[in-house]
Amino acid sequence: MSTTSIFLIFTFIVLGALGLYFIFRKESFDNSNFDERWRDILLNEVEFYENLIPSERIRFEVDVSKFFAKVRITGVDTIIYDKDRLLVACSAVIPLFGYPGSSFDNISEVLIYKGTFNHDYETKGKDRNILGMVGDGVMNRHMIISQIALVNGYNREHSAHNTGIHEFVHLLDKADGDTDGVPKFVLQSKDVQPWLEVVNGEIENILAGESVIRPYGATNEAEFFSVASEHFFTKPKILRENHPELYSKLIKIYHQNPAEGLGNVLGD
Ligand SMILES: [Zn+2]
Repeated sequence: MSTTSIFLIFTFIVLGALGLYFIFRKESFDNSNFDERWRDILLNEVEFYENLIPSERIRFEVDVSKFFAKVRITGVDTIIYDKDRLLVACSAVIPLFGYPGSSFDNISEVLIYKGTFNHDYETKGKDRNILGMVGDGVMNRHMIISQIALVNGYNREHSAHNTGIHEFVHLLDKADGDTDGVPKFVLQSKDVQPWLEVVNGEIENILAGESVIRPYGATNEAEFFSVASEHFFTKPKILRENHPELYSKLIKIYHQNPAEGLGNVLGD
């Protein structure tokens, strides 16, 4: 092997390690500033938190505090409340809860719009059918989310549609540079091809009307990953019963088995 090849491989390894460090940086934090009223909101609104054992609830609160310290949450032409801010934080914490101490480092601000918006971020006029979006270009490191959709996502009577989790799963997917439905930071390279086979098989099932996953998941692999993840975290038993192979692949990706007690952490 030539010196250049060795140098390139070495550089690649160092850059990869740095990327992992910045995206899943571990930091020390405590939950001493966690407001008791926030705890009540979490217990009332967030089934995932409610189902955690006490020590894991503390870890969840630390993660929420850490999110608030790093990410600005801004209401655009709408008043936002603690509940809205907490639900945004929960949407970030839940997908990474199987990776203790990890958090998103590829976001700076979440903008909350009251209702739907269009691709030009307009909240009035035609073609307003977007509930959430991870920004690109000048909107890089920004996420936009509809306040109504955010709150509805945590309504326990609601379907498996959770816009907050959906958007943060896109952010997890995007952490390797490509929003393509293959979250390379949490999926080993040997598992990529089997994952894509399951994804494409399940997209065909949706198109054939033989899936519990909503039709939007058939848009492409990235949307499938986000929509299937919403299902995994909000209605895990239904997903496991109807799509066991997909369910087991998502356990590997998230290091969690929510059907056996939400937030049950399996791995390191
Ligand atoms: Zn999406």
